[in-house]
Amino acid sequence: MAVAGSSRTLLVDCPACARKTEYSPTNRWRPFCSERCKRIDLGAWASEQYRIAGAPLDPTDPAEASPEPHPSSKSMH
Ligand SMILES: [Zn+2]
Repeated sequence: MAVAGSSRTLLVDCPACARKTEYSPTNRWRPFCSERCKRIDLGAWASEQYRIAGAPLDPTDPAEASPEPHPSSKSMH
């Protein structure tokens, strides 16, 4: 029997609790099974694994974001 395969649900293991969860557009927390698991995983990732040597790239970096016009000193000589 050949399955059309259009409505097959893809199941993945939740990275946080290893439960089978639906990996589908209806699951907004995919690949996690719930918001809770997503937060758990993100928290662990941020506190344990996400170690950076320098400062994180901030989109609102003052050095980059604000175009400070360089005061050009006119030489009146
Ligand atoms: Zn989970």
